[in-house]
Amino acid sequence: MAEKNNFQKNIIEEKSLNEPVDVGYNRKQVDRIKRFLVGSFVLVCSLPVYLGLYTMVKMNSLQKRADTVDKSIHIELQDIDMVSPSDELRDELSRNYVMLDTGTEDSVDKVEIRDSENLMTAQNMIGEKMNDVVVSNGKRVYLTFDDGPSEHTAELLDVLAEYNVKATFFVVRNPDPSLWPMYERIVSEGHTLAMHSYSHVYNEIYDSKESFIDDVSKLREFLYDQTGIECDLYRFPGGSSNSVMGVDVQELISYLNDEGITYFDWNALSEDAVNPSLSAGELNANVMSYVRTNEGDSVVLMHDIDACGNTLEALPALIETLRKEGYTLRPIDGNTTPVQHIKYKCE
Ligand code: ZN
Repeated sequence: MAEKNNFQKNIIEEKSLNEPVDVGYNRKQVDRIKRFLVGSFVLVCSLPVYLGLYTMVKMNSLQKRADTVDKSIHIELQDIDMVSPSDELRDELSRNYVMLDTGTEDSVDKVEIRDSENLMTAQNMIGEKMNDVVVSNGKRVYLTFDDGPSEHTAELLDVLAEYNVKATFFVVRNPDPSLWPMYERIVSEGHTLAMHSYSHVYNEIYDSKESFIDDVSKLREFLYDQTGIECDLYRFPGGSSNSVMGVDVQELISYLNDEGITYFDWNALSEDAVNPSLSAGELNANVMSYVRTNEGDSVVLMHDIDACGNTLEALPALIETLRKEGYTLRPIDGNTTPVQHIKYKCE
């Protein structure tokens, strides 16, 4: 019996010896819970950090995107009349780029590409389908031809039509009636018909205020007879700052103002009349050197006279270069800011 009791006691002792095994199992659970709690704590604490970092990265990327938008680039078509983009192209532009302004129902007036990374793609895409696309640099160039019409006028107009460019013609009264249809053609093809001189004889025009008025009035009337248009743009023969006037230019400007006539000089020239033997390349280099230097828009002086064949020859390359460099070619109109060498001194 005593032996049995001992056995029982041993079992109890053994059992009690085994107890630490149970205690160990519980500690593991506690450790696991501890690890879970610590892990959760670390996770909860680090979450704001991760969120903060994510927000920073996201904001940075949005900022870059905003910078790109600021540098948005305009693609402008020179003249909407000649451009009839297909529905397919219109859809393609709308799909790929942020904004598409349409001019009329069958033309694209302006495409604004807000993502400059897509610029080249856009240029290539549109360039393949249209010839008259310009990436505008925001500056305008006004091509002006003085002293026409001449034997070159018809071809000048052909080139301008081919490139869909509108220009400004400061014309004289050519004594040859066979050239008179050119005045009407200038107008009907969308160019600006402007006055230069009836006689273009400096001594006569600038002899007195009266002779000046006579010259301007006769030309205005002649052009009205030819085209039905009352011209209100003028260029002084030799420019407003010429040194051959026998009369105060302020008086002449005063007359023009009274008549509602705006005069234009120029701030770029090819020097074609000064030196008609200059090659087409030299003429264009002259023009571009002024245009690139001018801070704003440029009014380019060229001549439409028989001696200036190289001006005609130079025109296609000039237009192409100007467009390639982002200049928008426009005819002068009533809204154009005049370039004037001599300013009117108000009394
Ligand atoms: Zn002239």
